[in-house]
Amino acid sequence: MYHFLRAGSVKPAGWLYDQLKIQADGLSGHLHTVWPDVRDSAWIGGSCEGWERVPYWLDGFIPLAYLLDDAEMIADAKRYMEAIIDRQKPDGWICPCSEEERKGYDVWAFFLIGKVLSLYAEFSGDVRAEKALYSAMKCLYGFLARGDVKLFDWGKSRWFECMIPLDYLYERYPEDWIPALAKILREEGLDYHTVKERWVRYSNRWTQETHIVNLMMMLKYEAVTKKLLGTMADYADEAEELWQILERYNGTAVGTFTGDECLAGLNNNRGTELCSVAELMYTCEVLYALTGEPKWADRLERAAFNAFPAAVSDDMWTHQYDQQVNQIACRIFGSKSFFGSNNDEAHLFGLEPHFGCCTANHNQAWPKLAMSIYLERESGVEAALILPSVAETTVNGVPVTITCKTGYPFRFDAEYTVVSAAPVDMELTVRIPSWASDVRAEGAEITGNKAVYKLHADGETTVSLCFKDTPHFTERPCDLSVLEYGPFVFSLPIDTEYVIHEYVRDGVERKAPYCDYELLPKSEWRYGFSGETFTVKEKAGDAVPFSSKAPRLVIEAFMKPVDWDYAEGYDSVADRTPVSHMATGAAVTKELVPYGCAKLRMTEMPKTEE
Ligand SMILES: [Zn+2]
Repeated sequence: MYHFLRAGSVKPAGWLYDQLKIQADGLSGHLHTVWPDVRDSAWIGGSCEGWERVPYWLDGFIPLAYLLDDAEMIADAKRYMEAIIDRQKPDGWICPCSEEERKGYDVWAFFLIGKVLSLYAEFSGDVRAEKALYSAMKCLYGFLARGDVKLFDWGKSRWFECMIPLDYLYERYPEDWIPALAKILREEGLDYHTVKERWVRYSNRWTQETHIVNLMMMLKYEAVTKKLLGTMADYADEAEELWQILERYNGTAVGTFTGDECLAGLNNNRGTELCSVAELMYTCEVLYALTGEPKWADRLERAAFNAFPAAVSDDMWTHQYDQQVNQIACRIFGSKSFFGSNNDEAHLFGLEPHFGCCTANHNQAWPKLAMSIYLERESGVEAALILPSVAETTVNGVPVTITCKTGYPFRFDAEYTVVSAAPVDMELTVRIPSWASDVRAEGAEITGNKAVYKLHADGETTVSLCFKDTPHFTERPCDLSVLEYGPFVFSLPIDTEYVIHEYVRDGVERKAPYCDYELLPKSEWRYGFSGETFTVKEKAGDAVPFSSKAPRLVIEAFMKPVDWDYAEGYDSVADRTPVSHMATGAAVTKELVPYGCAKLRMTEMPKTEE
């Protein structure tokens, strides 16, 4: 069992700081000024949405504000939290609805505001937030225990999310009603084992049981429940069995799952909702912390460094609802959407394409990643993720500062400097990605996926490590391949024309930079791989870590043209497979870029034949 370092003790540096700053300067940092459902929410006394949107946004905005030490953002977070706490009813009910509406209120928002209250209490040290959380959860317990409120819809599907705030409370208030509430939630909540057979074949029907965001959240249910109930010794890794079914029938080349917005099979042109990527990241962070299984950290990196940046614009003002692995255009479909239950503009980059959940929920992805870099262990500190950062903690009572200098994942090396206030023996453990080869970590003992430095820290101590990978193919269904290198999947980028759409719909204004964009292809996309000669090129890049204009890492590859049709009935979606693997012309040199840098791209492609 691991613990994350205390909130506030880790600060981002290097590219991660730049990324979070871009986020703060983009939509996340301004959502409360431009979007009615946050600006005028019922949570703070307004008339707009009073359910999941404000808590979703705060779940990212609060850590973002504190990670960046941004006084203005911290003041905004405080203003929202105080307005929410001020409106809490004397019996502890905290969600904005009338007493008559409580019976029919979907308590998913209760779980979500619970997460936010615990996060805020931890960052701010505000005792009022902790007390508000206590009385809110005790109120929820009373309602559920008496049967005055039942779990249904989202609350039933996402019951385990409440374990996060309950765990926070139970560590501070070890009272019997907390595990009692956890047990009610588990009993009334959806048992995903009873619905897993629905994941193996595509159904065009929208259901909670095949909903991609629910499924990415639910992978952690066993771990968070057993952690709270103190039964982690019985942990059976049910998540792995469920993951395997999902991956076999719905997995994508970038470690996510199709869902537009319910499970959509293995086709590389189907959509993946952005909320599901953000939740997959959070699930993997929690699972790695609670189980120590390296696979969750590897899966986290795959989602964080590929699928997440792919669906968000360079300036982080716009995002897609649905991303496609092979995405040759983001053009409004018109009469008939290509996606299952998502509309004909769900793949546009915009303020709230299709629906506003992702607008509010994607904010958590980068800040939570930054919060998950270090884990506290009995013998010292583990760097679970190699990311540029500064951490302050104590080891055996001695204050210690750990600074990580690295360009990872764009470069495969890192330097850790440990500064201790007094002599102390400690272990610094660095998790090495499972794909890494030729690991060099002088002075460390390498066991499995970990380099363990046994340090006698006295003043300043510096250690460094590096590792390698070779560009290689991974096979995909329908005899297609993807090129991988390090944690990245590489794509053939397509030159893009951005068509701006500024308009007002249902009282919500889209105005640059928070407008909608259609992305139209301006270069040929019908290619396949030719041979296995690849040249990796490290580049300086620009100010945007996952820049679509100047990627920091590219691979030169030989490609040949192939015959490839559009999906039937559409002129802006590539068919799942080419007409043939036969090359129709001579090889040309192409620069492939990380998937997350290519907004229009071909990723799953054939190995061409002569
Ligand atoms: Zn969403």
